[in-house]
Amino acid sequence: MTTTIDLYVKQQQIAKYKKGYPLIHNEVVTNSEELKKEGSIFNLRDQKNQFIAKGYYGKQNKGLGWVLSYKQNEKIDFVFFKTKIEQAMEKRKNFYMDPNTNAFRIFNGEGDGVGGLTIDNFDGYYLINWYSEGIYTFKDVVIRALDELGDYRAIYQKRRFNTKGQYIDDDDFVKGERGEFPIIVQENGMNYAVYLNDGAMVGIFLDQRDVRRVIRDKYANGKNVLNTFSYTGAFSIAAAVGGALKTTSVDLAKRSKSKTIEQFSVNGIDFEQQDIIVMDVFDYFKYAKRKKLKFDLVVLDPPSFARSKKRTFSTAKDYPVLIKDTIDITEKDGVIVASTNNATFGMKKFKGFIDKAFKEMNVTYKILEEHTLPSDFSVYPSFPQGDYLKVVIVQKIG
Ligand code: SAH
Repeated sequence: MTTTIDLYVKQQQIAKYKKGYPLIHNEVVTNSEELKKEGSIFNLRDQKNQFIAKGYYGKQNKGLGWVLSYKQNEKIDFVFFKTKIEQAMEKRKNFYMDPNTNAFRIFNGEGDGVGGLTIDNFDGYYLINWYSEGIYTFKDVVIRALDELGDYRAIYQKRRFNTKGQYIDDDDFVKGERGEFPIIVQENGMNYAVYLNDGAMVGIFLDQRDVRRVIRDKYANGKNVLNTFSYTGAFSIAAAVGGALKTTSVDLAKRSKSKTIEQFSVNGIDFEQQDIIVMDVFDYFKYAKRKKLKFDLVVLDPPSFARSKKRTFSTAKDYPVLIKDTIDITEKDGVIVASTNNATFGMKKFKGFIDKAFKEMNVTYKILEEHTLPSDFSVYPSFPQGDYLKVVIVQKIG
């Protein structure tokens, strides 16, 4: 029989938690030293010992744990998890029924009521991400819930909870019929090769689905396209399918080249008609300027932080410079798709970076559209920080 720990919220933080803020930070409770065992359940209480909420202890870089319920008597058990997952699946009914898309997120952490846990569906292969040792202690009930609810072929998992938040898994397979990787999933009628057994990044970032679609449908036809930080070239595929004259994909990682060739090939596109370049993007900008290359459409989707041999890059610091370099090699009336997944700043600040870059270059621009997370990446209203994705599509005027 496990006992529930009482955690006392500091006076000035109480209102925030009563309003539904779901993440417990170390400094908001007076007695966090009572939390010893990952996965243990606690009651948040105010200084008068009144119950506020119930949650679990699971250390992530984000905090100490997550609120799970506002009902004092609710048990955090199989029924709890099954209900949450069932509701989440119900919300994604349109995805399950979509004949052109079979890769989407089923469960998005706190957005679906359980922070630290995500579940993605890749054509019946489910991928669970456990973001703390604490949430991983609920593995058996989560799998049992999926057994009862899901119509899956196999379950894979990533345990992303060593001290640095790094990926540590050695065996990603959990149960079912082992996949033969790559599996080819569909997204709005396009194909993507996915590997669930080869590290934390599986080949495609599902949160950019809507952006890939608009690139294909609205911005690519007849255009010369540059895709920077291209990874497996997912944006390049969308552009090529959308009728781009040519795509150029640039990424520092050696393996990005074969991965990008593979993504073109599974879509029946001749990769030899495309440029796939293994190079530091900042060097590529210099090269493009020297060669006077210009592009009609440039996609910018850097990682939040990146360290290469030559430099450290942080979107929070360096995005304006990145946009300035991009403006330089964008054609008149060309379009820039500026994206970031850095959760430490919001859309307003991001648009500020864009504005700063254009002003400093003395170039005018027009915002054509903005995107945040797609609907399967549901966001909890009291935790808007959960919506980390910011994409702004801008047109260079003149
Ligand atoms: N835009 C991609 C995802 C990018 S992931 C997509 O939508 O699929 C980030 C990528 O940036 C990684 O593949 C990494 O190798 C690459 N990268 C990091 N620093 C880089 C640099 N300085 N120059 C080029 N690529 C870089």
